[in-house]
Amino acid sequence: MDELLDNSPGGFLSFDDSGKIVLANATLCEWLGYEARALDGKQIDALLSMGGRIFYQTHLFPLLKLHGRADEIYFSLKRRDGSSLAVMTNAVRRERGGAFANDCVFLPMRQRREFEDELLEARKAADAASEAKAKFLSMMSHELRTPMNSILGFGQLLEIEPLDASQMECVEQILRAGRHLLELINEVLDISRIEAGQVTISAEPISAQNLMREAFAMTRPLAELAGITVRMELCPSEVAVLADPIRLRQLLLNLLSNAIKYNRINGEVRLACEGRAEASATVRFTVRDTGHGISAEKLGQLFQPFERLGAEAGEIEGTGLGLALSKRLVEAMGGAIGVESVEGEGSCFWIDLPAAEMPTLAPASTAPAPGVGGAADGEAVILYVEDDAANLHLVRKIMARRGGVRLLEATTGPAGLQLARTAVPDLILLDRQLPEMSGDELLAALRSDSGTSRIPIVILSADATPAQVARLLKAGADDYLTKPIDLAQFRRVIDELLARCAG
Ligand code: ADP
Repeated sequence: MDELLDNSPGGFLSFDDSGKIVLANATLCEWLGYEARALDGKQIDALLSMGGRIFYQTHLFPLLKLHGRADEIYFSLKRRDGSSLAVMTNAVRRERGGAFANDCVFLPMRQRREFEDELLEARKAADAASEAKAKFLSMMSHELRTPMNSILGFGQLLEIEPLDASQMECVEQILRAGRHLLELINEVLDISRIEAGQVTISAEPISAQNLMREAFAMTRPLAELAGITVRMELCPSEVAVLADPIRLRQLLLNLLSNAIKYNRINGEVRLACEGRAEASATVRFTVRDTGHGISAEKLGQLFQPFERLGAEAGEIEGTGLGLALSKRLVEAMGGAIGVESVEGEGSCFWIDLPAAEMPTLAPASTAPAPGVGGAADGEAVILYVEDDAANLHLVRKIMARRGGVRLLEATTGPAGLQLARTAVPDLILLDRQLPEMSGDELLAALRSDSGTSRIPIVILSADATPAQVARLLKAGADDYLTKPIDLAQFRRVIDELLARCAG
C-alpha cells in the first residue's frame, strides 16, 4: 500500500489538527525537493509561504473542519529551496484511530498557471487593441467623411450651375467617383465596426409588412431608372421579426438594389416574406430576380469582402462589400442569409430572422412645433452652428441659392447658445464637433431653455452611426442629416421644418 501511495502520480499529504504532517508520499517529497519520508513529523507550515499560511488558516483548514472536505482548491506549496509550486488539491477530513486526519491529494498546476498567465496577457493585449481600433474607427469615420462633404456638396452645387456639356461631364464624373468613394468608406467602416464589436444592434419586434413597404418605396426610383418592375407579395400583417429596424432595412435595400442592378433588360424583382413552417420561430424574406444568375462554382465566393465575381470588368458599379456586410449584420441579429441561383434564369436571396410578437402601434409622432419668431421681412432665420470653414461656406451657398433665408452663423457652442437665445431663429443647424461645448451639449442646453426649447434643430454630422442618430433624435433633435450632405434631402428637410414653423 505504501509503495502504491509513494509511486502515485499525484502528491499525498496527511496532517493532524495541530498541523503536524503524519505522512507525505515520495512523489510530493520529490516535487518539493525533500528525501522520501523527510517531511513526516514536520509542521505543515514548512511547506507554506506567508500567504499560503494565511490561506491555510483562514480558508482551507476552516473549510475542512466545517464541511469535512474541500474540492479543487488552487494554491502554492513552498519548495525546500524557497521557490513555489502551484498545485490543485482535493482534501478530506476523516476520523482515524480516535483523532482527525486531514488527507490531501495534490496535482501540480505549473502548465495551467502558465496558460492562465498567457491567457491573461492575451486578453489584456486584445482589450487594448480593440480600444485602439474603436478610437481609430471613430476618428477615420470623421476624418474620411468630412472632406467628402466638400467634394459632394460643392459638386452638387456646381451641377445646378449653367455649365456647358464638357464641364457638366466633368462635374458628373466628380460626383460619381465621390459617391462611389463615400459608399466604399461607409461599407468598410461598417464592416470594421462590426468586426471590432463596436456596433450596437437592437432587437425589437418589427412588422415585416411595414418594413417591406418602406424598402419597396425606397427602391422604386432606382427600379424605374433601370426599367425593372419590382413587385411585393405582402405577408400577413401579424408577421413580425426580432431585429434592428435600421439594419434590417439596410439589408433589404441591399438585396433589392443588387436584384435591380444585376437584372436583365425589362426584368422583374419580387420581394416576399413568409413565416417558415418547418421552423415556425423564423421569418424568411426573399428577393427573387430574373437576372443572369450566379454559377454554382461562383456561389461559394459570395459574401466575401471585395468579391465581385467578375462584375468588376463590367459597367455595373459596386464595391463588392454589400453582401459581406449583409452577412455580418444578419448574423449579428441571430439570423442567416443565403442564395439559390440558376445561371441564366435568376437568383433568390433569402434572409431568415427570428420571429417576434407583433408590436403594438406606436402613438402618432410629436406635435408640430408652433411658429417661433420669424424675421420681420418674411425671411426665415436659420442659425448654423459650425466651426469648419468649408462646411459654413457650403451651407452659405446652398442657402443663397434657395433664397428666403437669413443665415446666422456661430462657430462655438457658447456663441451658438447666445445667438439662439437672442435671435430666436426659425431653425437651427447644429454640427456635433464644436469647440468649447459639444453639439450634443448645446442641443441639451437649447432644449432645456424655455426660450429655445421649441426651435426645430437639425443635426449635421459626419458620424453616421445608427446608434448616434437614434440617441440624438431621442435627445430632442428634429432630424439628423449625415455629412456629406445630400443636397436634395437637405433642402427637403429644411423646407418641411420651415413650413411647419410658418403653419
Ligand atoms: P456589389 O454589388 O457592390 O459588387 P455585393 O457584395 O452586393 O457587391 O455583391 C457581390 C457580387 O455578387 C456582385 O458584384 C455580383 O457579381 C454578385 N451579385 C450580387 N447580387 C446578385 C444578383 N442578384 N444576381 C447576380 N449576381 C449578383
